[in-house]
Amino acid sequence: MKYKSVTGTRDVLPDEQPYWRIIEEKIDKITRLYGYEQVNPPVFEQTELFVRGVGETTDIVEKEMYTFLDKGKNSLTLRPEFTAGIMRLYLQNGLHTRPKPVKLFSIGPIFRYERPQAGRFRQHTQFNVEALGEQDPAVDLEVMSIAWQLYAELGFKGLAFQLNSTGCPVCRPGYVATLTAYYQKRFDEICGDCKRRLHSNPLRLLDCKNETCQPIILDAPVISRFLCGECKEHFETLRRYLDALERSYTINHKLVRGLDYYTKTVFEVWAEGIGAQNAMCGGGRYDGLVEQLGGPPTPGIGFGSGIERIILSMKQQGLAPAPEQKPDVFLVSLGQLARMKAIPLLYKLRENELAATTAFGDKSFKTQMRDADRQGARYALILGENELAAGIVAVKNLGDGVQENVPEDRIVSFLLEKIKR
Ligand SMILES: [Zn+2]
Ligand SMILES: [Zn+2]
Repeated sequence: MKYKSVTGTRDVLPDEQPYWRIIEEKIDKITRLYGYEQVNPPVFEQTELFVRGVGETTDIVEKEMYTFLDKGKNSLTLRPEFTAGIMRLYLQNGLHTRPKPVKLFSIGPIFRYERPQAGRFRQHTQFNVEALGEQDPAVDLEVMSIAWQLYAELGFKGLAFQLNSTGCPVCRPGYVATLTAYYQKRFDEICGDCKRRLHSNPLRLLDCKNETCQPIILDAPVISRFLCGECKEHFETLRRYLDALERSYTINHKLVRGLDYYTKTVFEVWAEGIGAQNAMCGGGRYDGLVEQLGGPPTPGIGFGSGIERIILSMKQQGLAPAPEQKPDVFLVSLGQLARMKAIPLLYKLRENELAATTAFGDKSFKTQMRDADRQGARYALILGENELAAGIVAVKNLGDGVQENVPEDRIVSFLLEKIKR
């Protein structure tokens, strides 16, 4: 076979499905508990939406987007994140006329041209949550709690928020000016990326992962001292809520988002043993984003959480979900006449919601019994010449090996009695 999957993509095989299923079940349950409704925006949008919505100076827009011209010469981009598309969907479909906050979630693939490394994929699946139209810190708490509850229910231990406020257009400029002055004094010590950031997007200086920049980040002025009255009040109220719920959190001054439309709350959820580079998810408030995209002033907060990342962490932590349900019944038949009975019986079992399967093609009794075992079936139903003549089916419990004969016309009720769910 000369074709291989594309670098940075991966196949999800049956063995991994229990992880996907349990995560999807938890998401389904928790979003219902919190009153969030699902929306599914398309996978690609106009490129301009992401350039404006994610930010021209971000790594995503600068280096990571899958952008192409379609046959109509329109520049389109595979979504590198959800938020911009959700904002477009919200405005275009009049969701902004609904009672606020409008609470939405999505699950689906996003695409980024990442450097290939462990746990990073160029197509990955994201669970995304947004609450729009309300600035109340109780909404911040709610969005943060959805992420928390998801990881808690999946069994992660030692959950803690990393928390910061990035201020607002009133108070942030004062901080940015101070930060810029501080970095200019140490210009010779910083990495090349940071030299660029100093002009394009100074807040992102604090994001730098380069070793040489770490001591400089450590000594940098922190935003908390610059927050205006409104931002300070918002942050303190959120902290009081977190205290009331006894959620542990750490104020992380390095946690900022580089763009003007990000405001106030930024957060990550960390779990024990996952480590700083492996925050379970990140999110925050973007009260200026909808305006940036040409809509009415609309506060909003959200987060995204990569499903593959969750699964990787579950595996590292030994959090194995229950295995998939195996077939209830495997039908073993020998000879053409028995086969003519077995095939309709297979469908009758399925009509009665028994998970039933059989061997296909011409296989020996031994091979069929081995297949039944391999598939993990609970019962083998055996139909051979003797059974046919006697009007019975031999039912073998593959767990304890006990075998009994059951009249043909009683087989469904017999199995339904045995396999009570
Ligand atoms: Zn402020
Ligand atoms: Zn740097």
